[in-house]
Amino acid sequence: MEYRVGLGEDIHRLEAGCPLILAGVHVPFEKGLLGHSDADVVFHAISDALLSAVGERDIGFFFSPSKEEFKDIDSRRILEFAIEKVKTHGCFVSNVSIVITAERPKLAGFIDEFKRSIDATLRIGEDRIGITCKTNEGLGPLGENRAIACHAVALLEE
Ligand code: MG
Repeated sequence: MEYRVGLGEDIHRLEAGCPLILAGVHVPFEKGLLGHSDADVVFHAISDALLSAVGERDIGFFFSPSKEEFKDIDSRRILEFAIEKVKTHGCFVSNVSIVITAERPKLAGFIDEFKRSIDATLRIGEDRIGITCKTNEGLGPLGENRAIACHAVALLEE
């Protein structure tokens, strides 16, 4: 058995008038994430981790923000694309580990929903999806609630 590991990270700006979509879940909040797509930092970070693990280019390469066809795209489509790439390389996802950094809203209460939503596409079992939600202790743009970030690590088996 051979293993591959991939790391992905993403950050998007929080702005009034945007929906807040995290891991495909609509989180009620006074602000949301700004982006060319639906700005789902969680799906973007996981997708980049998967693509990185199989040596593929990142989601910005495949879903260029300069292309009108990807405007407001549902990021679940990006995740589905990354999973297809993983399969093309003869691999499957063993587990993913995710850290979401947001000062507000408090996200811990959404973890089960995030897991269900991620597993609806990954299909690896919710016990193979680890999610940590943390603040940035008031520091920097994340701490000032001007952005939300996500880091993801994926382990693949060949
Ligand atoms: Mg992004």
